[in-house]
Amino acid sequence: MTAASLALAVPAGVAPAMADANFPSPTGETTISSILTPADVEKELKKLEQTSRFAVDVFTLAEAGTSVNTSEQGRDLYVATVGTGPEDVWLQGRIHGNEPYGTDSLLTLLKDLGTNGSSDYDLLREKYTFHIIPMYNPDGAEANIRHTLLWDDVTGSPEPGGNGREQRVDLNRDWTANGFAAKESLAFYEYWTMVDPAFGVDIHHQGLKKEWGTGDDVTLSLGISLAPGGPTLPGLEGGAYDVLTRQMLVHVYDQLSKYGSINMDRYQVGNGMEIDIKGGVVSAMMLGLDYQGLNPEGHTNPVVFFETSGNTSDGSLGQKARGKSVRQNVLALKELLLGMATGEVQHEDPERWEEIPHQPVTGYQTDYAGNIPVQ
Ligand SMILES: [Zn+2]
Repeated sequence: MTAASLALAVPAGVAPAMADANFPSPTGETTISSILTPADVEKELKKLEQTSRFAVDVFTLAEAGTSVNTSEQGRDLYVATVGTGPEDVWLQGRIHGNEPYGTDSLLTLLKDLGTNGSSDYDLLREKYTFHIIPMYNPDGAEANIRHTLLWDDVTGSPEPGGNGREQRVDLNRDWTANGFAAKESLAFYEYWTMVDPAFGVDIHHQGLKKEWGTGDDVTLSLGISLAPGGPTLPGLEGGAYDVLTRQMLVHVYDQLSKYGSINMDRYQVGNGMEIDIKGGVVSAMMLGLDYQGLNPEGHTNPVVFFETSGNTSDGSLGQKARGKSVRQNVLALKELLLGMATGEVQHEDPERWEEIPHQPVTGYQTDYAGNIPVQ
């Protein structure tokens, strides 16, 4: 029995499989006061650094030595590392400031990696060094908005664009040859070039979603920002990422299907359209973007993303949903990481990606060529 299947034999603290996958709820009420702020994250990280049994190192990008190293409004950008393994793993959350639970989920994982002495966590710490970014977008988090605002340090107010209005940057479209409009982007990009991770995970939220064909509530969507079999991914690294990213999410799907409170499908953008964006942070990682000569060796790494259903703007993130939402992300992270460490992921059948519920694919929504229909 592998470490991963041993861990699953006793799913302590998890609801039995007869529970309905019924969170979040359209009648829930979002309590913004329970959502972590940049100050909360800093405090929690420093506490974990002090109290963890296994070494947790918490630092700012200024301390890491990137040339740009704060948010637009001057907030510190935090990373925590844990583990002593030779392979680096990139885990980021809350690049969209109004998508909160990536932060909670990564802080929970960091706590587990820092304190849990079981064989599963021993394996993860021995195999990997984790670079955990619980809050990529602290300005957006503070304001509970998706974007960051370009900021004028002199006036201490938003820097107006040509039309005189404030300029909002979606940090998950800003890693392009013509991008890097926001400081956060260049800061984390330079850190990525210092780390050269082996793989990564990015955690988001989506609105309330029903499963195509059944109408069941979806709690978690599994995504790849360059669509498998699409215009881009099969051409990268001889097709290796087209295979491995599907194996990663097939593994998560299998492991989490055992929990009745979780209902998964594939992430799609509507009407059967798959996402195929090049400017997303994790897409640029897979593409091996070399910006300002910072990645001359053309390092690339595969990344997948999770989308928890519910967000702060439609009022669907009540307290009951919070615990379940965070738990499903932590479970998904742990199973994916263990599966990578044991090699189970690499033995999954990538074609089983088709078995994960989804609408038949009609095309690709891109940020470089509009919508491309399936041929
Ligand atoms: Zn997002």
